[in-house]
Amino acid sequence: MAIATVNPATGETLQTFEELGPEEIERRLAAADSAFRRFRGLGLGERAALLNRAAELLEADQEDVARKVTTEMGKPLAAARAEAAKCVKAMRWYAAHAAELLSEERPAEADVRDSGAAAARVVHRPLGPVLAVMPWNFPLWQVIRFAAPALMAGNVGLLKHASNVPRTALYLEELFLRAGYPAGCFQTLLVGAAAVEGILRDPRIAAATLTGSESAGRSVAAVAGDEVKKTVLELGGSDPYVVLPSADIEQAARTAVTARAQNNGQSCIAAKRFIAHRDVYDDFAARFTGGMAALTVGDPMAESTDIGPLSTEKGRADLEELVEDAVRHGARTLCGGRRPPGLERGWFYEPTVLAGVTPRMRIHREEAFGPVAALYRVDDLDEALALANGTSFGLSSNVWTRDEAEQERCVRDMEAGGVYFNGMTASHPAFPFGGVKRSGYGRELSGYGIREFCNTTTVWYGP
Ligand code: NAP
Repeated sequence: MAIATVNPATGETLQTFEELGPEEIERRLAAADSAFRRFRGLGLGERAALLNRAAELLEADQEDVARKVTTEMGKPLAAARAEAAKCVKAMRWYAAHAAELLSEERPAEADVRDSGAAAARVVHRPLGPVLAVMPWNFPLWQVIRFAAPALMAGNVGLLKHASNVPRTALYLEELFLRAGYPAGCFQTLLVGAAAVEGILRDPRIAAATLTGSESAGRSVAAVAGDEVKKTVLELGGSDPYVVLPSADIEQAARTAVTARAQNNGQSCIAAKRFIAHRDVYDDFAARFTGGMAALTVGDPMAESTDIGPLSTEKGRADLEELVEDAVRHGARTLCGGRRPPGLERGWFYEPTVLAGVTPRMRIHREEAFGPVAALYRVDDLDEALALANGTSFGLSSNVWTRDEAEQERCVRDMEAGGVYFNGMTASHPAFPFGGVKRSGYGRELSGYGIREFCNTTTVWYGP
């Protein structure tokens, strides 16, 4: 894929970029390596001051950067502003909490004596330059979610961003430089996916993190495995949204619309499979479909727009194929199921609800990366859990019930990295984020996230 800014609302190519050649990549790897040796010596207070400065600059840039994001990947402008604000919050959170999250641990006195030591402690040291391969759907947040904790821990970052968001990628490099980070601490590599293997195999790269599709994750993990390098993988999801009889159905349906349609439906943690108990199915289906059909699709720069275009032409074609396959196998389209009339220039698709989805349909197994919901009717919680877990993904999950026994059952049996009751999945800097099964491994955010790229070291003092 060429590295270019193409406006998905119009299909117009606004700018193309030269890929970095081998010499430039080498120069940047060397810069990262030497920056790391100096940067790891900085105290946590100095690192926090730098991150807070970057947060301040991003806050001041909010409007400009939001327009850049919307132009490159098509999310509504209000959503792009909110994404920038979320990044600022996470940066400040890590600046404030990193010292506590990385504080050294003292094993119990009895264990220290038992080991024959006079004293012992456990410290969290940085690993080195980390390669971050990132997607376009939250082009600021995905990067900051990695960079804020990684930099606070004393690592340095090399960003290989998705090829359709180069302006945002370059903005991020410049942001950290303007904040005063030493050159080489955070660099953007304008390269395509084919260059990732060579960079990852370079001995100066200590570890990698990838957020993206299962196939990209598999290929990066294979190379990293061959090189015995640590990876964190945040891959796809097809999160269940279970609605049980004790739920507030009106609220559940309203939240379901946001959970499916936010970010033009292109979120890994979007609810994608809606599983309603037969006692409340009709009510939920009618309200949910009404809410989806009422969304305004259009120019993502307009304040009144709820849903902009899909980010790439291929993304829309993939989504259309999933819907066509479902309809061919007997699914009913409760709303949408087509390109919206009058918006022919961009890659728009109407919010869609499919009922009567069965295991024969691809959408039952695959992730729908756009505003398309699959609706299921079940007889009880057992059937709901079997359906919810009957997928290769395991990112997060949503369950609407006021019944504490049902909640505990879901905490025990839901195969996912999150269980959200009476609400929708949303990340927060203080909570670990990540999945199981084909949704990946490792955790981002919270103390778990910052320690993923640390060398947890035993320090032992003889008697
Ligand atoms: P993608 O094609 O996998 O792209 C993501 C990144 O990986 C891009 O930088 C891409 O570069 C690179 N890439 C692609 N193939 C690669 C390969 N074989 N080796 C190395 N790098 C490779 O993902 P997408 O389809 O654009 O993004 C949507 C996917 O990301 C969905 O499945 C979504 O659920 C997932 N996602 C997961 C999370 C999470 O936190 N779990 C968050 C957001 C998105 P190019 O752009 O140059 O191809």
